[in-house]
Amino acid sequence: MARKETPHTYQGISASPGISRGPIFVYQEQDLSVPRHQIKDSEDEIRRLEKAIAIADEQITSLQTKAETETGTEEAAIFEAHALFLQDPTLINAVHESIQGQKLNAEAAWIDAVEVNASNLEALEDEYFQARAADVRDVGRRVLRILLGVAESDLSDLTAPSIVLARDLTPSDTVRLDKSLVLGFCTAEGGPTSHTAILAKALGLPAVVGLGNSILDLKSGDPLLIDGGRGEVIAFPDEKIIQEFDVRRQKLEAQALAELELAHEPAITVDGHQVEIVANIGSPQEAQSALKHGAEGIGLLRTEFLYLDRHEEPNEEEQLAAFDSILDAMEERPVVVRTIDVGGDKEVPYLDLGVEANPFLGWRAIRMSLDKPELFKTQLRALWRASPGHDLRVMFPMIATLDEVRRAQKLFKDAREEVVAEGHGVADRVQVGIMVEVPSVAVLADLFAREVDFFSIGTNDLTQYTFAAERTNEKVAHLGDGCHPAVLRQIQRVINAAHDEGIWVGLCGELAGDPDAAPILLGLGLDEFSMAPSSIPHAKAIIRNWSKSDAQKLASKALEFDSAEAVREYVRTNQPG
Ligand code: PEP
Ligand code: MG
Repeated sequence: MARKETPHTYQGISASPGISRGPIFVYQEQDLSVPRHQIKDSEDEIRRLEKAIAIADEQITSLQTKAETETGTEEAAIFEAHALFLQDPTLINAVHESIQGQKLNAEAAWIDAVEVNASNLEALEDEYFQARAADVRDVGRRVLRILLGVAESDLSDLTAPSIVLARDLTPSDTVRLDKSLVLGFCTAEGGPTSHTAILAKALGLPAVVGLGNSILDLKSGDPLLIDGGRGEVIAFPDEKIIQEFDVRRQKLEAQALAELELAHEPAITVDGHQVEIVANIGSPQEAQSALKHGAEGIGLLRTEFLYLDRHEEPNEEEQLAAFDSILDAMEERPVVVRTIDVGGDKEVPYLDLGVEANPFLGWRAIRMSLDKPELFKTQLRALWRASPGHDLRVMFPMIATLDEVRRAQKLFKDAREEVVAEGHGVADRVQVGIMVEVPSVAVLADLFAREVDFFSIGTNDLTQYTFAAERTNEKVAHLGDGCHPAVLRQIQRVINAAHDEGIWVGLCGELAGDPDAAPILLGLGLDEFSMAPSSIPHAKAIIRNWSKSDAQKLASKALEFDSAEAVREYVRTNQPG
């Protein structure tokens, strides 16, 4: 049956605001697990490899031509470099050696050699070469796909500005994505705090998640409008709809521009109360975006980027270089680094996390770190070595018990002693805090507050654990709203417990940048709001619009409602002025 190409609206969940329009790029995830076995006929295996390389070369040439006509020479130059890599004699010799010497199959021999090459590039200090590692891996996957006979459909095939449509996107998918070509994200699955949402906010791009499987009937090239703020997506829009969207987009853009102009001013309420507005970032590159959007520091550096999309653990030097680059960019501003938080929906094949029935309740974050002290220590040592001359703060994710805090602190202390004994300089003081994302910590916040320097409330996880509703499952996404009094009352408890002990409290879940939640959090006494850089200008504008005393009244009212909807409705109808 022919497809109807008339306007069709899909309602999903708002994950990142903004409006954009463009063709769809459908991303189908591929299983590229690498078989590894002994072969008998190495000549045959080499022929297979050479054929795959030749096909890859043809694909790259046609992508290059397409790039030249569609996006210009800069894009095309990247493919030229890809083609050159296919002919790199060091690489080819290494693969031949593994196939002939170790009788390794072509897939394993190829990917091993590619990884060595990519890691070598990453270890170089020059940013240009580090960035090339991603290109090398891209080419590696292309050849691997051909060897495995997997149909070509990969994020690396995104060659023109498009709205990316996928079932869901994992952090490792998005690392490879050419962000400059993405106009927005739509996913069939996922909730408002999924990693697609976090990435979209980080890039300042609109995103709608949890659209349901019917959205996957759309094809690459189909025209689409996306309104991230409303959680709405329209396929095959007609002229009238396009015009309405364009008017709305212009209005939003004008407002955003005005807010950006004031982004570098502090966030002070009408009655003179100042709060700290800092950024959540997930890579050294994003530090620039944080500064551009007026961040007063980093409230959450997600360090997973160091571990994802690679085949072996990052070493101490590599981590040190990444921390140095962020700390240098932020100068004297505070930078809160969260230690490794993998597991849950963040998979890392080489860490052998195993398959779990309920990964979000499983062996993730601090649980894994404490069981793998060597891996954890590598990061802690790098942090101490990066600390001199900066306001570095460290926090542990997914803390559930006091025993975990004490064990993590002990390892951090041991790491300090080790690096000092080796003659490295360290800062006199590094604040050590924990994320509050498990209800057990909110309940016992008074006890935890005695043992740490600060709290940072992770409402993405705190909400999913409060409602027992997985944050990536769109079927239960309606349950996971951080504006629910069940979450807000825990936040109140945590802030009060912290202030009673004289420590500061931040919040780094998506709720911090949520326009409905911001005045409530202000009223509850939150000290630090940490959010995607692109959310900062608007959040500052909201804070400046409120007085602390009005926000306090709003917050105490919000705590008495019985649903998140009622709270949001109340905030929207009780704006100041
Ligand atoms: C959170 O859980 O709120 C948080 C900030 O951590 P992440 O989203 O990385 O799990
Ligand atoms: Mg979390």
